[in-house]
Amino acid sequence: MQHSIGVIGLGVMGRNLALNMASHQEEVAIYNYTRDLTDDLVAHDEGLPLHPYYDIEAFVQSLARPRKIFMMVTAGSAIDSVIESLLPHLETGDIIMDGGNSHFLDTERRFDELQRHGIEYIGVGVSGGEVGARTGPAIMPGGSKEAYEHVAPILTKIAAHVEGDPCCVYIGPKGAGHFVKMVHNGIEYADMQLIAEAYSFLRFRLGLDVTEVADIFAEWNEGELKSYLIEITADILRKTDDETGQPLIDVILDQAGQKGTGKWTSLQAIDNGIASSIITEALFARYLSAIKEERVAASAVLKGPEDLSTLERDAWVERIRQALYMGKVAAYAQGFTQYRTSSELYDWNLRLEEIALIFRGGCIIRADFLNVISEAFKNDANLSNLMLAPFFAEKVQAYQESLRHVVAEGALSGFALPSLSTSLTYYDSYRTANSNANMLQAQRDYFGAHTYARTDREGIFHTDWQ
Ligand code: NDP
Repeated sequence: MQHSIGVIGLGVMGRNLALNMASHQEEVAIYNYTRDLTDDLVAHDEGLPLHPYYDIEAFVQSLARPRKIFMMVTAGSAIDSVIESLLPHLETGDIIMDGGNSHFLDTERRFDELQRHGIEYIGVGVSGGEVGARTGPAIMPGGSKEAYEHVAPILTKIAAHVEGDPCCVYIGPKGAGHFVKMVHNGIEYADMQLIAEAYSFLRFRLGLDVTEVADIFAEWNEGELKSYLIEITADILRKTDDETGQPLIDVILDQAGQKGTGKWTSLQAIDNGIASSIITEALFARYLSAIKEERVAASAVLKGPEDLSTLERDAWVERIRQALYMGKVAAYAQGFTQYRTSSELYDWNLRLEEIALIFRGGCIIRADFLNVISEAFKNDANLSNLMLAPFFAEKVQAYQESLRHVVAEGALSGFALPSLSTSLTYYDSYRTANSNANMLQAQRDYFGAHTYARTDREGIFHTDWQ
């Protein structure tokens, strides 16, 4: 019997996706370029229909046509070398999928190269980590629609489901799926940073103890902030370190890691003139966190304000909740603007209401308010900014005062709130009808004869300033 799909790469994600597929009655051929991971998976295969191969040709020949091969290997040159090892054994119409975090431009290049060999290539964004991969991730496939139709029955089956709908829809051509996953990760950076700022304000400015803050996050998770990241934040704050008996959060070193997708999101935004300041500020916050030794040294030299006033607990908890919600709306507004603008740029025809829907399950940024985001784009496919959708326009206007209080208090008391303050700056800049850029234009014309446009008539003007 020929197998319905093959999985190459049996690390954290590949192994769990293979198990997920096999749990859904797929006959799954598995292959890893080193033997151990295959043996290990077979030893723990839970009696599922997984079929190990140790030879790439035999692996390919075991698959039903058109062959469907799901790669889950380290992004970068490993992908190219796996494709190279597969190519001699493939036939026209066979389909290779890349489920890793590949850069979307690499995916576009690979798509074009494989088209020349008659092979279909699908860049599949996958979000949900280890557990999501096993039980149902969010899946963002990009490539040819025809090729997608062949793999859709399997991908939609293994995806998370919300209200009966799979968190997997065809995203668009070529690199569109990996692009959507990349910006999803950028939004995730911003969302995490906003939560970290709210946590630190509650704990270290309001002076609440860690269990109280855990309770606040748990309570927030019952309301409009309900999301996976808020939920795990409450869980994290309740965890005690076995060795020291302290809250585990207090013994975790404050140096954030990253694997590059947030940086790619910012670079793509910068390259294409898209204001992605909240996502980028979250990235910079990770960079600043990384220079721990310098920060420790600086803390002894550079002083902030002293004798901070006591803040009234309940009023401030609510202010922080509102500030966090508004920060999230602004961050998602930037991410979805990046989708809209890039969709036009690359001619992808991204359907934003569907993208918001697939983020509702399986993935790290899953949240109740994605339903409202989806609704906003459903009601107006040409919505230029999420903050202008009636629901969110009303919310941000109601919550802006809280965000102003929190950002001002952070500044006055010396607490860095990079993403919250950038959210406020974005909101205020975006709603400014007459900005200060006329001064920039005047300066540019003054020193560089770069010319300017006028408010009162058409044309290009230059002034002899001296
Ligand atoms: P792992 O490091 O656990 O697994 C990587 C896999 O790639 C291993 O099977 C490894 O084999 C294989 N591999 C590495 N180099 C080569 C090569 N040159 N040729 C063939 N195979 C190779 O990573 P993950 O499973 O965590 O991640 C895989 C991809 O999925 C990455 O792109 C990652 O960014 C992405 N991803 C990860 C998520 C997560 O939460 N972990 C979530 C979503 C996406 P061996 O061990 O034998 O070297």
